Amino acid sequence: MKDIVVPVPERFLSDAYLNVLESSPSQLLCDFDDEAMVQMKAMAVTGYPDEICGLLVGTSSALGWHVQSVHQVTNINEERAADRFQLDPAGYQAVDKSLRGSGQEIIGVFHSHPDCPAQPSPTDLQSAWEGFIYPIISVCQGQVAEVNGWVLSNDVAEGGRFQALRLQP
Ligand SMILES: [Zn+2]
Repeated sequence: MKDIVVPVPERFLSDAYLNVLESSPSQLLCDFDDEAMVQMKAMAVTGYPDEICGLLVGTSSALGWHVQSVHQVTNINEERAADRFQLDPAGYQAVDKSLRGSGQEIIGVFHSHPDCPAQPSPTDLQSAWEGFIYPIISVCQGQVAEVNGWVLSNDVAEGGRFQALRLQP
């Protein structure tokens, strides 16, 4: 990964942001097919300086997740496209429908953080689902600076927080 300095806005150091993180990392592995990782990064760069989002398709097991393909979905949050995302429900349904009978399923949601760390926000926590994985791509000055993967420790309603995942590659 290129050596790019990631700016850390003040809010990322606030209690509100730090409280969405679990201190211990997850032991589970998130393994990307090379092409899926390349495509996800390219989508984040192309969308810069807006925040892009999409779905991860693959399989899950007791060891973790295997991402086989990525599907960009329109970010319908136009008012705050630079720092919020909201998946277009029609896009979600289209991907879901295309997977019927394939043995693959939607296993997570990725999004980019333009000029911000690849660290989840309180808003990301509010919209997160247990069992889904949440890679975040930090794009700084138009280049990928870092990619981190996150998963909920348990349901948000039961105090679930984001745990860092082991990402491969
Ligand atoms: Zn976010």
